[in-house]
Amino acid sequence: MQGIVTKSTGSWYQVQTPDGQRYDCRIKGKFRIKGLTTTNPVAVGDKVDFEPEPDQETGVIHKLYERRNYIIRKSINLSKQAQIIAANLDQAFLVVTLASPRTSMGFIDRFLVTAEAYDIPAVLVFNKLDLFSDEGLEVLAAYKEVYENIGYPCYEVSALQGTNIPLLENLLKDKTTLLSGHSGVGKSSLMNALLPDLELRTTEISEWSDKGMHTTTFAEMYDLPYGGRIIDTPGIRELGVIDIEQQELGHFFPEMRQRMHNCRFNNCRHINEPGCAVLAALEDGEIAPSRYDSYLSIYNGNDTRA
Ligand code: GDP
Ligand code: ZN
Repeated sequence: MQGIVTKSTGSWYQVQTPDGQRYDCRIKGKFRIKGLTTTNPVAVGDKVDFEPEPDQETGVIHKLYERRNYIIRKSINLSKQAQIIAANLDQAFLVVTLASPRTSMGFIDRFLVTAEAYDIPAVLVFNKLDLFSDEGLEVLAAYKEVYENIGYPCYEVSALQGTNIPLLENLLKDKTTLLSGHSGVGKSSLMNALLPDLELRTTEISEWSDKGMHTTTFAEMYDLPYGGRIIDTPGIRELGVIDIEQQELGHFFPEMRQRMHNCRFNNCRHINEPGCAVLAALEDGEIAPSRYDSYLSIYNGNDTRA
C-alpha cells in the first residue's frame, strides 16, 4: 500500500493512505541519502510504500519515493548529523510578531535564506494584528516594505480574532505548507483557527504514549478540510541550512542575486570590492540595510537569532 508520512518519532512513522486511514509503521531496510547523515531516514511528507500487518493498524515501510525537496535541521551537537523535518513542500509560512515577542529581521532573513536554499517559496504571516498600536502599524509597514519589495508575500492576521484567516486559507488550498516561527508567535493559535477540529490531536498523542511509542515529534501533518495539508513544527525554533558556502550566500538573497552579475569581479563577495553592484545598490537605497546586515552576519557565521 502507498501512503504519506504524517508524523514521525524516529522509530515509528504514522502513514496515511489516500482514503484517510492511518497506520503506525516501522522501517525495514536502509534508506540513505547520498552525502547526508540523518537521524531519521523517513520524514513527514514522504511518500512511501508499506506492508500492513494482518489484523492490525500497524505496518512496515519498505520503499521511500524520491523527494521533490526537503528541509533539514542541524542536530544540536555539532556532529554532521541532520534531521529531516519535512519533505515534498510547496511553500513555507513564517509566523512573525512585532510585539510580545518581536521577531527580529535577522531571524526572518535566516529563515528566508533557508527557504531559498531549499527552493521553497516563503510567505511572511504577521500575527497578533489586534495588538498593533499606531506605532506597531508603522513598524509593520516598514517590515512589509522591505519584504514585499524583494518578492516575499506578507499577510497580517489575528489568529485570536480570525482576521484575514480566509486569505491564508486561499493560499493553503491544495498545497503542502510548512508552518514555522519561534515560540510565542501564535502558531498553535493559528493552527486552531485554520483547523477547528484540532482537539483530535491531543487524544492521538496520548494514544501513542499508551502504546509505549516515544512521542518526541518535531513535525506533524494535518489535512485541511478544503484540500491541502499543513505541517506544524512545534518545538522547532529555527530551521538550519547545512553548509552554505560563503561564495554561494548572495544567491539566496533575491535582491543580490538579481544584481550580482553586474559586479566587476565574478567572485565578488560584495563586501568591499570595487565595482560591486550590490554595494552600489545598497548606497542608492535599493537594497535594505537590514538585509545587507543579515548577509554580512550570516557570511561571518554570526548568530542573528536574538
Ligand atoms: P506558539 O508558541 O507559536 O504556538 O504560540 P501560541 O499559539 O501558544 O500563542 C502564544 C500566546 O499568544 C498565547 O497567549 C495566545 O493566546 C497569544 N496569541 C496568539 N495569537 C494571537 C493573536 O492573534 N492576538 C493576540 N492578542 N494574542 C494571540
Ligand atoms: Zn559584488
